[in-house]
Amino acid sequence: MSTDSSLSFLPDNQVLPLIDWLFTFGRTKEKGTTRLLYSDSWLKAQHAIYDKLKSSGLSPFFDDVGNLYGRVEGTEADDAAIVTGSHIDSVVNGGKYDGTYGITASLLAVHHLLNEYGPPKKRIDVVSLCEEEGSRFPLTFWGSGNITGKYTEINTDELLDKEGMSLTEAMHRAGFGKGVYPSPQRNDIESFIELHIEQGHVLEKSGSSLGIVESIVGQRRYNIYVNGESNHAGTTPMSFRRDAMHTASGLIQWLTAKAREIDPHLVATVGKIEARPNTPNVIAGEVMFSLDIRHHRTEVLDAYCSHMFEHFHEISVRTGVSISPSQWTDAAPVNMDPYITKTAFDLSRHHHLPAQYMISGAGHDAQMFGTYCAASLIFVPSHNGVSHAPQEYTDKKDLENGIHMLTELLYKLAY
Ligand SMILES: [Zn+2]
Repeated sequence: MSTDSSLSFLPDNQVLPLIDWLFTFGRTKEKGTTRLLYSDSWLKAQHAIYDKLKSSGLSPFFDDVGNLYGRVEGTEADDAAIVTGSHIDSVVNGGKYDGTYGITASLLAVHHLLNEYGPPKKRIDVVSLCEEEGSRFPLTFWGSGNITGKYTEINTDELLDKEGMSLTEAMHRAGFGKGVYPSPQRNDIESFIELHIEQGHVLEKSGSSLGIVESIVGQRRYNIYVNGESNHAGTTPMSFRRDAMHTASGLIQWLTAKAREIDPHLVATVGKIEARPNTPNVIAGEVMFSLDIRHHRTEVLDAYCSHMFEHFHEISVRTGVSISPSQWTDAAPVNMDPYITKTAFDLSRHHHLPAQYMISGAGHDAQMFGTYCAASLIFVPSHNGVSHAPQEYTDKKDLENGIHMLTELLYKLAY
């Protein structure tokens, strides 16, 4: 591992042309981009990157779910690989930088290192992950989940897109899933480094160019079913009511206030509500609302949930309205590798790049890798925090600072 940390900067004006070029695959009328997994625009983009990797001196290859790698072999006999990249798929009418920035940055950083310093000691793989967003099929992290061996039990025949096509068929039509390419699962990855736009406005507000993620939040999601009694809005006295809407509104107030009280980083969101019969002159008999809670420490999530269950019980006894939470997501918080995280922070100090430690409130491929190998996630600012929209924008200087940081990290780890 090298201790040199004064690398030559990547020459200017390389990143934007590459990002603009990738943006053309799936361009929409609304000036956004749509690259859904295994779609035509997705396939064209992956094959175009294949050619670009090749012309940049890397050896490209696909795996059997469509993850695309660009490999540089190491000079020392060691099977451990340093993998860097992000996802090529987008949401419907998404922006220019989400996912593609990480791929572009990895390609430019590795190409620059190769040109300036020759082959690394350790193998480096640039990766264009096939899927992260869950925008076509009801599943996220299809690329990194397969690489890390977490998706071996998934039945791809049962996962359908909104046209009713199965994941199996979509995969086959794109030329994958038939054993033509090597199996996606790997056991040789030593570290994974992902550069990504922040998709929030913490960095822009604090004037930092880089956000070095220490952990990615855990998420728990519930549907909360509140059951009372539907009745006439005019003839039922207030004291006789078991009003599900009234109870639900009190619970929502309580859930939000409790999150603020427990920890400044804890977030609780009720984003969806359904009432029955949903009629102005009838007392609601049933209400279902969603709850999404996130924090980077399991004990904080546990504490919130135990207060919540206790409160539900108390309210239910007092009002005669039943309250049944049903959990459908439980993702544990994931820590990024402390050594790479600290190294990134020290390097940013050394180069006078304004950086800060962060917690990621959104899920990323790095979280799939985080329980499997040493993983690192680095953010660059998103203007106004906008993402998943055509207005997504990151300043060129910030894009370049991120690439310089990635170049430094790769040099430290692989040279
Ligand atoms: Zn993304």
